[in-house]
Amino acid sequence: MIEHDVLIVGGGLAGCRAALEIVRTDPDLSVGLIAKTHPIRSHSVAAQGGMAATLKNVDETDSWEAHAFDTVKGSDYLADQDAVAILTQEAPEVVIDLEHMGVLFSRLPDGRIAQRAFGGHTHNRTCYAADKTGHAILHELVSNLMKYGVTLYDEWYVMRLIMEENQAKGLVMYNLIDSEIQVARAKAVMFATGGYGRVFNTTSNDFASTGDGLAMTAAVGLPLEDMEFVQFHPTGLYPVGVLISEAVRGEGAYLLNSNGDRFMADYAPSRMELAPRDITSRAIMREVAAGRGLHPDGTAGGPHVHLDLRHMGKETIMQRVPFAWEEAHRLVGVDAVYDPMPVRPTAHYSMGGIPVNTDGQVRRDANSLVEGFFSAGETACVSVHGGNRLGSNSLLECVVYGKRTGAAIAKYISNKPLPNFNEQQYLQAAKARLQSLLDQPGEHRIQAVRQEFQDCMTEHCGVFRNATILQAGLVKLQSIKQKATQVYLDDKNTCWNTELTEAIELQSLLTIGEVILTSALNRKESRGAHYREDYQTRDDPNFLKHTLAYHSREGVKVDSMPVVLNQFEPKERKY
Ligand SMILES: Cc1cc2nc3c(=O)[nH]c(=O)nc-3n(C[C@H](O)[C@H](O)[C@H](O)COP(=O)(O)OP(=O)(O)OC[C@H]3O[C@@H](n4cnc5c(N)ncnc54)[C@H](O)[C@@H]3O)c2cc1C
Repeated sequence: MIEHDVLIVGGGLAGCRAALEIVRTDPDLSVGLIAKTHPIRSHSVAAQGGMAATLKNVDETDSWEAHAFDTVKGSDYLADQDAVAILTQEAPEVVIDLEHMGVLFSRLPDGRIAQRAFGGHTHNRTCYAADKTGHAILHELVSNLMKYGVTLYDEWYVMRLIMEENQAKGLVMYNLIDSEIQVARAKAVMFATGGYGRVFNTTSNDFASTGDGLAMTAAVGLPLEDMEFVQFHPTGLYPVGVLISEAVRGEGAYLLNSNGDRFMADYAPSRMELAPRDITSRAIMREVAAGRGLHPDGTAGGPHVHLDLRHMGKETIMQRVPFAWEEAHRLVGVDAVYDPMPVRPTAHYSMGGIPVNTDGQVRRDANSLVEGFFSAGETACVSVHGGNRLGSNSLLECVVYGKRTGAAIAKYISNKPLPNFNEQQYLQAAKARLQSLLDQPGEHRIQAVRQEFQDCMTEHCGVFRNATILQAGLVKLQSIKQKATQVYLDDKNTCWNTELTEAIELQSLLTIGEVILTSALNRKESRGAHYREDYQTRDDPNFLKHTLAYHSREGVKVDSMPVVLNQFEPKERKY
């Protein structure tokens, strides 16, 4: 059996920052970091626009309190304010620490770290490395892990969390190269498995964002928090869905409808293109529904709007947002110096996730914790984003809470023994699960079932929702789940069997889809990214609370948990 003091699943920013904190605290601790991709191919590497922190290099009037207020208002008052205070107070320190590690942030002429405007933030506080910020940070973190001797298990797929007697004890994982199964145990287990964008048919996320950590957590009977809050980023490149960073609007780009109007004036006059993402995405969908969208040939009535950079000039475009220019050029043949880019909302980020306290320890329910189980990053819900995340607050969350969770784990495991359990039982169960997928006599192809599922989620749980649409989605989902039990794998081999991996990922996606739909049906109000056509306003007396959803074979049971309010009173959210 593989043994470490700590096992971390996920090689993105959150997992790597936690691992680093553990070995910095005590270099003798043994940390195993497992990822189904190579760590530097985690979705974090694709993060573009930047990371918020009140360094005050550009705007001296900025403060952590202002950052906290923007974040809480952006969350539509669902964020836990104790967690937000930690996030915003610790932000400058973690950025400086990254810079000392060697991260190459973009600079002001006087050499200090540059900071740009971002949606929903009232001050220029987003630090960046051109539009390749995630790349710059992740590469430095991974190099540091090598230096400290963290053991990497890259291209290993974790398929089960071992939890007994309310304690996380280990993992079952298999090697993608040859399907070898291994059981691992540790004094603490951490999930930093990222988001679930692949639940939807158009997403900015990578192919690995299938929400496995969430599904494995649900599988041991633990709740998932606020899963109805899915962020649709306003500017996905049409038709591919790839992200055009908010940094492009931060640097001054306009959103235009088919009349050539900057339509955000009708939806968020004070913030225009830099309104929060939920508001901007709804505005685009309303313009399209009103016939003011465009077709690819430029005529009116089509499915997308325009993101216009032309007035920014070639030099600014190439210096500040070169990657966005390159993507539009490479993927849809648009040269943004001369032509506007076609854009439309794309599934981007998961505000909900595994409920944790501010030390990253996982909650069993509203009042108690799980022993030895921790989580941070996009897969966790400490709730700093509540109903809607502000751009550039996620990289920040990964680093602040990755670090805090690492520190909490190092403390938690001191003087603790390795847990015991029956290894053979888990090994046999895993072998049987893989074999039964390989032997399944079914009639359906994975790709077809996954496509049907993604179309179902997109149609029934998108930017606008109502009870009829959501209920119909749940009914459809049952028949898709049935089909998924009759999937036939063409590849019966053990070597790099990607079909086998996709079959397990499909099970994760289906679980999460059911939790999202049920949580969305249960929240009979509109708040942040969750917009109900049948309940169009926020309803604080009944719904100023977190959703806790428990998935089981019988369906999803919904409970709730109070929101921490200690600094800012809920007010109407206007921009
Ligand atoms: C295109 C894009 C641009 C973005 N730009 C910004 C930005 O500018 N600013 C900002 O703040 N945020 C941005 N975000 C959001 C932000 O990048 C992510 O929320 C954040 O990087 C997530 O980091 P993470 O460490 O939680 O997970 P990830 O980086 O997604 O890493 C997840 C890890 O878990 C591993 N894993 C998952 N399942 C398993 C399994 N079953 N077994 C083994 N390993 C597993 C994966 O291999 C991977 O290593 C962007 C997101 C996207 C998609």
